[in-house]
Amino acid sequence: RAKNEGRNQIQCYSEELEHQVRYRTRIEQGLRGAIARNELKLFYQGKFEASSGRLVGMEALLRWQHPEDGLLAPDRFMAIAEETGLMEPIGEWVLETACHQAREWLDMVGYRIPHLSVAVNFSASQIAADKLPKVIRDALTRSGLAPENLELEITENALIKRPEQIAAALKVVRAMGVTLALDDFGTGYSSLDHLMHFPIQVIKIDKSLVATVPEDEKGCRLLTALLNFSQGFGMVSVAEGIETEAQAAFCAEHGCDLLQGYLLGRPVDAATFEKDVLLPALGKYLDG
Ligand code: C2E
Ligand code: MG
Ligand code: MG
Ligand code: MG
Repeated sequence: RAKNEGRNQIQCYSEELEHQVRYRTRIEQGLRGAIARNELKLFYQGKFEASSGRLVGMEALLRWQHPEDGLLAPDRFMAIAEETGLMEPIGEWVLETACHQAREWLDMVGYRIPHLSVAVNFSASQIAADKLPKVIRDALTRSGLAPENLELEITENALIKRPEQIAAALKVVRAMGVTLALDDFGTGYSSLDHLMHFPIQVIKIDKSLVATVPEDEKGCRLLTALLNFSQGFGMVSVAEGIETEAQAAFCAEHGCDLLQGYLLGRPVDAATFEKDVLLPALGKYLDG
């Protein structure tokens, strides 16, 4: 009997493996034509000033409108895109699309929302690519977006592979006037060293830490320390993953500059963002 169970387990395991391989192949093949078939979409999520609640920018988040599986979030296909070299063209499409959209929105609100910025996520391979400064310069030129209105979000894991080259490339990008944000801070290989050697202006505190406040005492102390630290370094702090009023209040009270999360607005498609977030925000600016 024990023998049979073992055999069944092995069989289950190999079926699972086969299923995974089939899934990857299907995703990879679909992804190859996704840009051309217009299946990639950018969703936008607002970023708000903690003290006033005003909209200050939006983060572009990638979605894939899969013909059979529906709307897919990045965790369903990004790793496969990275491993198959597809992240490069996809990343360039994201940057290009986000810059054009931001330029269009800035024209629409007549630059009445000062410094409205679009944040674009960059993966490790995109950051390490030699042509990073050129890719960014081209996207800005083609869209007519000012570099001050573009922010790159980079995770710390992306900095550790070729740190010297990456630091040099990021300095070029920073010199253009583009803002650099460290995403998911407080997870992964967090190291204060990164803040010394890379030209970072914004720290985005990871939602896993934000989720612990205000109930968890240690979480509260760690978040407070990170906010003090970021203030001491003269950096802008963003708390991501704000889901409750209590989390928003805690972050605002402890000096967090910007808030982002489902409580303030979920990521939505461009048309919805324009109608439900951007245009109402403009009203708020005009009312003073
Ligand atoms: P991220 O940059 O840290 O983005 C935040 C993630 O948290 C997003 O997930 C967002 O939808 C989600 N989120 C926002 N507010 C809340 C909240 O209040 N509660 C919770 N539980 N989650 C919230 P999403 O869109 O699935 O993206 C996941 C990750 O995929 C991103 O994490 C980013 O690292 C990556 N990513 C997304 N779009 C792109 C892209 O265009 N290029 C690259 N290279 N990476 C991307
Ligand atoms: Mg991000
Ligand atoms: Mg993040
Ligand atoms: Mg994340």
